[in-house]
Amino acid sequence: MRLLKKLQHRVGVALSPQEHYTRAFSQGVLLGRDKYAAAAQLFEQAARHAGQAQDAGLQRRANANALLYGFLAGGSPQTLSPLLQALDGLDDIEQIGSQAEFVDAKALHHELAARLAEATIAVLDPSAHLERARHHRGAARYFEAIGGQALITYAHRPDSLGIERADLRSFFHDGQARYHEALDQAHTDPEAAADAMNEALVALLQAPAKDQQQAAERWLERLRTQRSCWSCGREFLGAELHYHHVPATVRGYVVEVLRRAGHDLASVDLSSQRVVLCATCGTMVQTIADAQAVRRVTELRAEVEAQFAGLQHQLAGLERRVNALSVR
Ligand SMILES: [Zn+2]
Ligand SMILES: [Zn+2]
Repeated sequence: MRLLKKLQHRVGVALSPQEHYTRAFSQGVLLGRDKYAAAAQLFEQAARHAGQAQDAGLQRRANANALLYGFLAGGSPQTLSPLLQALDGLDDIEQIGSQAEFVDAKALHHELAARLAEATIAVLDPSAHLERARHHRGAARYFEAIGGQALITYAHRPDSLGIERADLRSFFHDGQARYHEALDQAHTDPEAAADAMNEALVALLQAPAKDQQQAAERWLERLRTQRSCWSCGREFLGAELHYHHVPATVRGYVVEVLRRAGHDLASVDLSSQRVVLCATCGTMVQTIADAQAVRRVTELRAEVEAQFAGLQHQLAGLERRVNALSVR
């Protein structure tokens, strides 16, 4: 009898829903990470059998585990939404990789909700700052709610960030939310944006996220740098955002003229032969230059087409003569 049961479990025939559920552990979960995809399929089977037997409790549990192990095995982040719904119906769930130990379903729910936010951010337009900020803020809140506890899923399905503590991930996302809010604000108020970027940097310094720290540092520097436009003379904050350095002839005499007039010497650069243009003056010059270029191209095309028509005429004449020769 015991041998028969073992055999049934091995091949999965004539099993009760509960036995199917147990089989997902013995033939999947408990065999280690390589078998998580198999575990997901076995949990799906168990959920189906539980559904047929109208065992709603077991069906919920099996369904949640099917989605969980599917995600851990590298499944699409799109499984996260239904997984979160499935976890809502549970008080606790088996700890990942175990059958006997249980964890609070709410803690896992918070972590996976944060991972859903992270997955959403990954596919957002890089310039959609406010939307990115919103999802980073959401992730920060979920990680904050988990607090100082170790995270559960990242050891099984790591991401590129490599932070396995909830509080540190919360700092990271808080910093990133502030970073993107600052970039959005930079267009209208670079001074306030610099303050926001400074707060972003403070948060990012608490999370081990070197690249993001450096990006925030670079922006902070840019937002706090002020230059006068060579063309309109107004002062602008925000290097390479509200003003740019544009190649131009800069002679020593020009620097001298600025010095005597008491104007901003930083609006010209003798060594790199560049001047500062605010974004408005810069785009104005650009627009005029573009219009000029389009006009010149149209003129050239007309000339070339006239020449081309002449060549085609000559070619047709030559062809007629060659044909006449070959007929003879
Ligand atoms: Zn001039
Ligand atoms: Zn200007």
